[in-house]
Amino acid sequence: MPEEFLSDVLDGDGYRFWHLSLDQGVVRITRCQDCRRWQWYPLVACPACGCQTWQWDDVGTSGVVHSWTRVIRPTVRRPGLEPPYVLGVIELPQADGARLVALAVSPDEDPRIGDTVQLRVRRGESESILVFQH
Ligand SMILES: [Zn+2]
Repeated sequence: MPEEFLSDVLDGDGYRFWHLSLDQGVVRITRCQDCRRWQWYPLVACPACGCQTWQWDDVGTSGVVHSWTRVIRPTVRRPGLEPPYVLGVIELPQADGARLVALAVSPDEDPRIGDTVQLRVRRGESESILVFQH
């Protein structure tokens, strides 16, 4: 599956492959096939070289808290995600510092910037969600 390319799986929803990876319990983000730049979120063209061919690669399960926030009043409601909850921007040193967003395992979590955390997949009723914990 990592050999599949975003251009082969775009169906009007560029995140379909993201959710397919999470459903498999694997965290994958896009990587440019030309200059090898990591990119999250998926883009049509690489900002570094303009290449439009991407590969989804496994980034493992370790990350570092770049920033976080506790959501008390959400601007968008999602089924199965009731406030309060904690969202973190997690940096991936193993992917040249690419960052993605994950939900803290517990709403009582008080992450600190620079903390090393573990990423894992929580299977929800309608979709899988990326979560992090110490
Ligand atoms: Zn590139």
